Amino acid sequence: MKIIMLGAPGAGKGTQAKQIAAKYEIPHISTGDIFRANIKEGTALGMEAKSYMDKGQLVPDELTVKILLDRVSKDDCKNGYVLDGFPRTIPQADVLDKAVSELNDKIDYAINVDVKDDNIIRRMSGRRACLNCGATYHIVNVPPKKEGICDTCGSELVIRDDDKEETVKARLLAYHEQTQPLIDYYNNKGILKEVDGTKDMNDVFADIVNILG
Ligand code: ADP
Ligand code: ADP
Ligand code: ZN
Repeated sequence: MKIIMLGAPGAGKGTQAKQIAAKYEIPHISTGDIFRANIKEGTALGMEAKSYMDKGQLVPDELTVKILLDRVSKDDCKNGYVLDGFPRTIPQADVLDKAVSELNDKIDYAINVDVKDDNIIRRMSGRRACLNCGATYHIVNVPPKKEGICDTCGSELVIRDDDKEETVKARLLAYHEQTQPLIDYYNNKGILKEVDGTKDMNDVFADIVNILG
């Protein structure tokens, strides 16, 4: 099963994608996580990506597409994957479409996790991230067992550099201009599914499982 998660920054794509990956036994692929891992390792790709991410802008398509195609060509993707944060532009979607078609395959679902902007700003200010294992928390909604420490791996939790309010506003702008058009794009392909991302996260997941079967 090949699934795309759509939604504004902070809508809960990552939270849901991790659960989908566990239940359906497919890899969870987050371009944001790949960039953050590269930043942490200090690679050239990471440094270039960071210059855009810190401003709340999208990383250029050329760079992003290359790392995504590289990732989905790995063996563990043969039975599908859940993409979280890719595609974010129409050209990225076209490249993915072409790559999948060349394998005589198709994307099964594009799931739009719908959350409006005012709600997003509140959510992002409480997000805490583990840069070691990729786990995500929220100080009110999803607190870790021990404050500031990752339940899964024991590393220290951080506020992502791009989760400052000013940067979140820039990211929302980029989302509306460049990513939101993908909702129509996948609707026209007949694979768009919408879920209400403002519900409790377990209820959102139940709605998604209903769709995926
Ligand atoms: P969020 O989960 O809050 O939506 P991500 O971790 O997916 O954030 O992305 C963080 C940042 O990484 C984005 O703001 C953008 O700069 C960059 N990024 C991630 N995926 C893409 C992509 N597909 N195209 C361009 N930039 C991307
Ligand atoms: P995205 O990957 O779309 O950027 P995340 O999955 O990282 O979003 O979620 C953003 C923040 O909101 C995190 O702090 C997360 O714990 C929290 N969150 C996710 N889903 C919900 C939900 N349904 N209700 C309340 N908070 C949520
Ligand atoms: Zn961790």
